[in-house]
Amino acid sequence: ISGIEIPIHEYAEEIRSGSRLHLSKAITLIESMNRDRQEVGQELLQLLLPVTGRSIRIGITGVPGAGKSTFIETFGMMLCEKGHRVAVLAVDPSSSISGGSILGDKTRMQDLSRHPNAFIRPSPSAGTLGGVHRKTRETMLLCEAAGYDVILIETVGVGQSETIVRGMVDYFLLLVLTGAGDELQSMKKGIMELTDAIVVNKADGDNEKLAKKTVREYKQILHFLQPATPKWTTSAFAVSSLKNIGLDHVWKDISEFQNQMKESGYFDERRKLQTKDWFRAMITDRLIDEFFSQKRKNAYDLESQLVQGELTVSQAVDKLFKS
Ligand code: GDP
Repeated sequence: ISGIEIPIHEYAEEIRSGSRLHLSKAITLIESMNRDRQEVGQELLQLLLPVTGRSIRIGITGVPGAGKSTFIETFGMMLCEKGHRVAVLAVDPSSSISGGSILGDKTRMQDLSRHPNAFIRPSPSAGTLGGVHRKTRETMLLCEAAGYDVILIETVGVGQSETIVRGMVDYFLLLVLTGAGDELQSMKKGIMELTDAIVVNKADGDNEKLAKKTVREYKQILHFLQPATPKWTTSAFAVSSLKNIGLDHVWKDISEFQNQMKESGYFDERRKLQTKDWFRAMITDRLIDEFFSQKRKNAYDLESQLVQGELTVSQAVDKLFKS
């Protein structure tokens, strides 16, 4: 039925042994709009669950132009050269709304996409943000089962997407630009309180001095904020993704983070909390979908009564639930 040609156990085995072809096809099943295919995708995922989770999950956010794809290219290559296996996924809020993509998947990360240790999956382009969220999470699990031990999830800092990505990663990194004095003033405290590290990019050439100054400014501000991860001090770094300067410091920070959090038990605890949150979020999505698929007409009727002033909002809600 379902786009897989061999028994599902064998298929799962192919993924475990690192077949990119089988991994890609499994992700396509997970992303499918077709119920039967989705179900096969879920069965596969269930078979593979015991071998998921063995990775460090890193979220990367920043405005367009901050250098996310350049950072991921250089950082990813560095890790591949160290022998890691790196999967790159994206949550792209624009693609779920318009079908287009801010993250412009195709032409980016040319070297990394050719490296045998790397796997880059373009963001799913259809569906609601909730749907994209599910697909990215499940894709991440499949990649882990296939032996990718570093998962990089990229998102543009727009709307809810950075909160969603925070909710699926261990370590969240904010990429910023230098000379952002004004930006620094206006930057939402909210996003800084989600991050485990602030990385000031493009610290090269004439920009280097300014980058170091920007790092000091961020450090000062961070001092007054809640850390994103309990008992972890969010730090700031200056790097050049283009010239490959300073990226090893970021990796060192991530490694220290991982060691500390595993030792304290918070690493696993946070993942369990994230899974529970995800479960609840999916229930909420499903309830809303099913409710409106059954009650759309009643809701429209009540809306027109509402705007004509025939009912109060509370009465309309009551009626809708009783209908
Ligand atoms: P994204 O939109 O956040 O993915 O940003 P890109 O990675 O596409 O980078 C935007 C522009 O900044 C490109 O022209 C990059 O070549 C440039 N860029 C990225 N990183 C650096 C860096 O470290 N130094 C310099 N000088 N330019 C960079």
